Order: sequence, then structure tokens, then C-alpha cells
Amino acid sequence: MADLVSHPAEVKVVSKRFGKGAANIDRYLELDGYKAVQKALGMDPDAIINEVKTSALRGRGGAGFATGMKWSFVPKQSAKPKYVLCNGDESEPGTCKDRLILEHDPHSVIEGVMIAGLAIGARIGYIYIRGEYRYLSVIMEKAIADAYARGFLGKNIFGSGRDFDVYWHGGAGAYEVGEESALMESLEGKRGIPRIKPPFPAVVGLFGGPTVINNVETLASVPPIILQGGEWFASLGTPKNGGTRLYCLNGHINNPGVYELPVGFNLLRMINEVGGGIWKGRKLKAVTPGGSSCPILKAEECDIAMDFDTLMKAGSMLGSGGVVILDDQTCMVKYALRTIKFYQHESCGWCIPCREGTDWLKKSLTRFHAGAGLKKDIDNIQYLAENMLGRTFCALGDAAAMPTISIVKKFRNEFEDHLEGRPCPYDPEAVTQQLPVLAGAH
Ligand code: SF4
Repeated sequence: MADLVSHPAEVKVVSKRFGKGAANIDRYLELDGYKAVQKALGMDPDAIINEVKTSALRGRGGAGFATGMKWSFVPKQSAKPKYVLCNGDESEPGTCKDRLILEHDPHSVIEGVMIAGLAIGARIGYIYIRGEYRYLSVIMEKAIADAYARGFLGKNIFGSGRDFDVYWHGGAGAYEVGEESALMESLEGKRGIPRIKPPFPAVVGLFGGPTVINNVETLASVPPIILQGGEWFASLGTPKNGGTRLYCLNGHINNPGVYELPVGFNLLRMINEVGGGIWKGRKLKAVTPGGSSCPILKAEECDIAMDFDTLMKAGSMLGSGGVVILDDQTCMVKYALRTIKFYQHESCGWCIPCREGTDWLKKSLTRFHAGAGLKKDIDNIQYLAENMLGRTFCALGDAAAMPTISIVKKFRNEFEDHLEGRPCPYDPEAVTQQLPVLAGAH
């Protein structure tokens, strides 16, 4: 069971049932559970979509696409069945919030899937849970079984004459499957690599049918929107960035944890007030505001509203809500290396810029951190990463390149500190720990 944290600045919408035993269906019902889907059963599908559009809810998985807009892309008529797919393949380093929702409030996810199904005319939903979250599959399986036993799922749900089925599906442990089309491939029993788009899932998705794919937190936000209204939800955030977010504060702070705060909450306040400040009395050096794939912000850039548009303007992203905080004793070369090692390991290998680019970046950064880098390597790393951008089938290539580019650009001095055999100023043991991979091979 994951530890829960709390802070007075929080506005609990998605997390309001955390720690209250809501995985139990009776407790969920006591806490307004399944009221929203019953209300939605009496609504016109377009009215549901309009309510979600009014809420300014944007995807919480990373891309931040407007949820109501995404639902409206699904054709009204379809010869093939339509599907709702909940993306619970949470794997972005620094991000661990969907895990809490699935653990503490699984019925809210089921309810969100059902409402999305009513909106687009689907009668089947899948909840895909990452392989490493196996224990959550057990919780979800029980929640689904309990909902069937009460007549909330299956035939004639809530006596409405409508049918709706929900299944959970476990992944096998691949970051890449968090990409929506790779997830559909995996769910169909194939190797989890992306599909070429177009066509997009709203038109040709799971098993060839029109499909809506949303993140766990996105779908868990839908029942409160239906119950309390889109305008109320929108008012919690900033214009075009409605509601709250589960921010995963982690790294070098005193009080790490998952906190639900309004979208647009100031990042410095988040670190100092909610997160209790930088640990060990140190100073802030940098922040990755939305998971490891986001371009980094320097300390002096962190007095900023945490919403999609403001961060985009600042050259970064709100991403998946994983706020990674780095203190002033962090070696940024090592941080860049650690990040690229992850993406190199997770690259599915389908396209060359990602497969080869992540490998070469890992080799170059390893050599640099070991003190064997040459001055021209700094530009080479930058050049290599820039040539991956926009040249891959899925966003993993960009996810690997973007943090690297921003770190080289903003912390070039730290790369220079590692040149020509000098040991890492933050980690003098590095030279003896790591042999240069390609020393002298220029
Ligand atoms: Fe695979 Fe990387 Fe290409 Fe995505 S970008 S398809 S992960 S090789």
C-alpha cells in the first residue's frame, strides 16, 4: 500500500476518497459512488461531451489534449464496435499518481470509463494496467467483479436497458506501451510497438473500431465533472486548463509525495510550501516539471504557473505531473546520462533515430561523465539530440532528445567542467567507477 501525504493547500477532487476505503464498493457508494454514471445515463451523448468540453479537462497522461474534443472526434455511426480504453500503463520516471487512484479509488476509474462509453456510444471498456503494478490488477479485478454483482456492469446496467462491459488487462512491462497505439497493439496480443498514424484511434483503433483512449486520472476526473458541472471544474484551474492535478513531488525535497493542487499552482510554492523545501538545507538547482521527458527548468525559471500553456511558453511541458526536484549538488551531466539510459533501454528499436540516437547519446554521456569528453562532444551531443526531434514514429524519440537538449543548453558549464580527464566536480569517484566507453574514438 502506498503512503499517503496531505497538505492544506490541496483541493481534493480526484483524491477525495484516498485513504477512505473506497476500493470497497459499499464505501464507494456511501461516498457518492456511481451517482455520476446514473446521471449520465439520463443525458444525451452530446450533452456529456459538452459538459466535459466546458470543464476544460485536458489529458493527464502527458500530451494535455482536450478530453471533450477527443471524444467528439469519434464518429457517431460505426459498422464496428467502439471502445473506451483506460491507459494505466504509468511508467514515466517521476510519475506515480495513477497508481494511487487505481489502489484507493478503482471504482472511480470504472465509472469514468462507463461515462466515456455513454458519450461515444461504446459498450465495452478496457482498463490496461502496467505489468509492474500487478497488485493493482487484483484490486481492479475485485472492483469490476463487485460492480457486475450489483448490476452496475453487464446487461441492463442500473435497469436502464443499456449494456456495458469492462475488462482489465495487464501489461508485460514496457514503457513504450504507454503510447496509445502501442497499447492497442499490446491489448490485441501483439508486440507493443506503435502504429503509423493516421488513421488515428478515434476512427480506427482497438480491433479496428473507433476508440477513445484516456489516462487513469483523466477518466477519474469525469464523474465529478458530471456530478458538479463542467463550469465548476473549469473554475478550479486556469483558462483552458481546468480542474486539479495530482502532482508527484519527488527528488531532493523534504516532503515528497502525491498532492492534488489546482492546475496553474505556482511551482516555487509547490516546492517550498507543499514539498517543505529542498532537503538537507541545500538550494534548488533545477526541476523537471512533468516527468523525465520534459525539458528542464533552471531554478530561476521556477516561479511559474504549472499549467499546460504557461509551461509550453516557457519551453517545457506539464506532461504527466511528475515533478522531479534537483538540489545544487546534482551533477547535470550525470542526470542527463541517467535519463538517457532509461530511454535507450526502453526504445523499441523500430526507427533508427531513436534506436541509434539514444544509444549514441548514452555512450557519449557516459564518456563525458567519466571525464573523457572532448570540447566538440558538447556540440555533438546537442546535434545528435536535435536530429532525433520529430523524426521518429512515436514520441519516445522526442522524450529522449528534449531533456538532453535542454540540459546541454542550460548547463553547458557543467559539461565544460568534465572536459579532458577532469573528474566530476559533484562525484569525484565517477572516473574510477566508470570506464570511458569510447575514449579517444573521435
Ligand atoms: Fe520505437 Fe523509439 Fe521509434 Fe518509438 S521512437 S517507435 S520507441 S524506436
